Amino acid sequence: LRERPSHLENLSVIGELAASAVHEIKNPLFSIRGFLQIIDNSFSEDDKRKEYTRIMISEIDRLEGLVRDLLMLAKTRIGSDESVTVCELIRDIAELYKNRMEMQNIKFSLRAEDESACILGNREQLEQVFINLIQNALEAMENGGNIEVVTSRKNEKVVIEVRDDGKGISPEAEKKIFSPFFTTKKNGTGLGLFLSKKIVEDHRGRIYFQSTEGKGTVFFLEFPVQNGEDRQAENPSE
Ligand code: ADP
Ligand code: MG
Repeated sequence: LRERPSHLENLSVIGELAASAVHEIKNPLFSIRGFLQIIDNSFSEDDKRKEYTRIMISEIDRLEGLVRDLLMLAKTRIGSDESVTVCELIRDIAELYKNRMEMQNIKFSLRAEDESACILGNREQLEQVFINLIQNALEAMENGGNIEVVTSRKNEKVVIEVRDDGKGISPEAEKKIFSPFFTTKKNGTGLGLFLSKKIVEDHRGRIYFQSTEGKGTVFFLEFPVQNGEDRQAENPSE
């Protein structure tokens, strides 16, 4: 359907290499973290050295997140596109976060104008986009709140809004949130939105946002719609 530039094929080799590199990096990190935890436990609360072990552990967690995000970045589209039902995808992800939302006192709702709206693409990558957005929403609402996802059809586009009533984005940060490594979080990687934008654009889509500090944020996603008739026309054998 879409011309795939040959450099993307090279990237998929890099993706495989990155996957094994990530494994090789994670194992030693995990073992370092384990021993540090033992050392940390052996210090009393008022021991100055406990502060150092805490910092080391939190830096290891940051490295782990970084490595995970870099892997996603290196992985490119492997396999063919499929029809992804947006609402199904979003419900699956909400299910994944159910416990965490309950614990954090967050209410989740999905409002779907067209339950069967489909987009054409790689399910795993599209999942990653919504995981990133919902994760960010959760992190912006430490004291509870609402996450609302609204899906609708506008002409030949599927529009998905991910709304939260969290702390919002400051005007200074607004310019930078899609840049790699920009983060305002202690343990953030700053790769989530960079990655999401890359995936969305790879799907011929668009991502943008509106935010008010102290009130909340809405992320908008637009993808070309793939409806029933198109599907049949493209795959007459199905
Ligand atoms: P990370 O989550 O690792 O910080 P992201 O790329 O996902 O990296 O996000 C970059 C930054 O954008 C965040 O650190 C945060 O400042 C801001 N941000 C993203 N989504 C939201 C949101 N829903 N509410 C408030 N701030 C957000
Ligand atoms: Mg994030």
